[in-house]
Amino acid sequence: MNHQLQTALHEADLSREAIFERTSEIFERVLYDSAFLDGPNFTTFHPFDLRRMFDLYDRFFFGQGCREVLGDVPLHFGISKRMTRSAGTTTRRERRTHALGPVHREYEIAVSSTLLFQTFCGEERTVTVSGLVCHNRMQALQRVMEHEMVHLIEMLLWTNSSCAARRFQSITHRFFGHVEHTHELITPREKAWTQYQIRAGDRVGFRFDGHHYTGIVNRITKRATILVEDPRGSRYSDGKHYRKFYVPIQMLQKLD
Ligand SMILES: [Zn+2]
Repeated sequence: MNHQLQTALHEADLSREAIFERTSEIFERVLYDSAFLDGPNFTTFHPFDLRRMFDLYDRFFFGQGCREVLGDVPLHFGISKRMTRSAGTTTRRERRTHALGPVHREYEIAVSSTLLFQTFCGEERTVTVSGLVCHNRMQALQRVMEHEMVHLIEMLLWTNSSCAARRFQSITHRFFGHVEHTHELITPREKAWTQYQIRAGDRVGFRFDGHHYTGIVNRITKRATILVEDPRGSRYSDGKHYRKFYVPIQMLQKLD
């Protein structure tokens, strides 16, 4: 257990100015050093950028306590297109190469590219992450990284981590000024509604392999899941049989 990091976590209570100064410095440095980021509203990013951002946060906010506690334990960074609700995740993986061997532990922080890339596209509403207004993808990414770092720190020090719990929220508030533990980045579900007025339960038509189908929107993630009545399909709780299609939202035509 790293007492230095733990003490820092209990005692720190940063002023708004101190937070602003440090996070602005990180904003500048990550952008400046990156071979991938093409501006505050970047159109591409790389796990290297996440690593760089993480290490700067660790240095400026936690006295490199995260790296110190991690030691040789690998920390990976990932970018996921498939995350359509969470903006970020922190996971611990443990495995043994043989039954009595030592446990290998590793961590990963992953960020959703889908949510970042479909937000800050000229939408009308204000975008907040962790309750703080963000003006560009870079700021949103920073708020997501701050949140995920606290998950990692909790996992490292106390094994379990929950952002719905008071301890987590106290840390993110004192270090980063977060006032919420959720994000309001634009999800595929919201986009489907604001751009195409389509939501779960709607009757829609679409073409697939040269055929025209009509069905019901069941779920919206990266694409919409459409259930089309078909006696050869699987039986659902309403007693009817449906075939499932995954269709891009823009291919759907709303029927009423
Ligand atoms: Zn969380």
